[in-house]
Amino acid sequence: MKVAVFGTKSYDRQFLETASQGTELRWHFFEPRLTETTAPLAHPFEAICCFVNDTINDEVLRIVAAGKTRMIAMRCAGYNNVDLNIAKELGIRVARVPAYSPYAVAEHAVGLILTLNRKYHKAYNRVREGNFSIEGLLGFDLHGRTVGVIGTGKIGQLFAKIMHGFGCELLAYDLHPAEECTKLGAKYVSLDELLGNSDIISLHCPLLPATKHLIDAEAIGKLKPGAMIINTSRGALIDTKAAIGGLKSGQIGYLGIDVYEEEADLFFENKSETVIQDDVFARLMTFPNVLVTGHQAFFTENALQAIAEVTVENLEEFFAGKALTREVKVD
Ligand code: NAD
Repeated sequence: MKVAVFGTKSYDRQFLETASQGTELRWHFFEPRLTETTAPLAHPFEAICCFVNDTINDEVLRIVAAGKTRMIAMRCAGYNNVDLNIAKELGIRVARVPAYSPYAVAEHAVGLILTLNRKYHKAYNRVREGNFSIEGLLGFDLHGRTVGVIGTGKIGQLFAKIMHGFGCELLAYDLHPAEECTKLGAKYVSLDELLGNSDIISLHCPLLPATKHLIDAEAIGKLKPGAMIINTSRGALIDTKAAIGGLKSGQIGYLGIDVYEEEADLFFENKSETVIQDDVFARLMTFPNVLVTGHQAFFTENALQAIAEVTVENLEEFFAGKALTREVKVD
């Protein structure tokens, strides 16, 4: 029961090793991400374990299928980076971790809002440098503000609950309204209505063809001027170039993102000694009202433990020849 783990970080190794104690699973940890170049490393392994920024496209799937690989255990919820049609055609099964700690992501989204609003990052540096001026740190009360939640699944519901706790009015948009949100007093409205009436908008829907660039120039034009946009879901929900236009005009008043559409070449690595080649990202970094975190919303001990435990279960089911409880299939 040998499994190749791609894009391994020290925390992946630690949590996967702990979760697999007493099982027959044997990990082989590779530091590089899965790409067209590294895919041949998978050949001796029946199962491989991947993450959000691994490349699992047509070409990579054909390379791994030429070896022994017949299962991909995603150690994440999202699977937008997997070409499921090709995986099915090649007889490669895909399982994921549908929910680990939705609290981790919902709480991080709230952290982005509070930091953008009350500028804790600036306050932290100022005070450490002996600068106790509060000029430029002016924020606004969240109480009474209108928060629009796009996607009210597991994470969106928790996020709505927290914002309700702050005393915010809630607007929601989802194809399938959730009772938990209506119970909080959230009003399900059209996307346009949400865009035009929210002071803060938080994205919690998956990345699908239908949601790619959900926040584009047209949507930005419909915003309440100066609105705050938060994205802890997937980068490509926002057309970044359009967001830059919105930030320049002031139509977007604040932007807090944990995900970025071209993050695969940047995030999860220390690039502090590297010249960033992505000019769009570099431009984003120049705005005082933009806060970017590097896809860390999921990153809590609770989440990593849950991810590792469910990944182990998914792999054990596969090796036992059982049905995969959390298999991802083509619609
Ligand atoms: P979920 O499946 O429980 O909820 C997603 C919701 O989006 C569902 O209610 C669904 O009906 C809705 N939806 C689907 N298509 C939609 C559309 N076109 N318009 C509006 N709503 C739509 O998922 P979740 O567990 O709440 O996770 C949400 C997203 O968060 C995931 O898709 C993933 O991309 C992201 N995520 C990010 C991190 C991170 O670390 N930043 C971690 C975990 C998940």
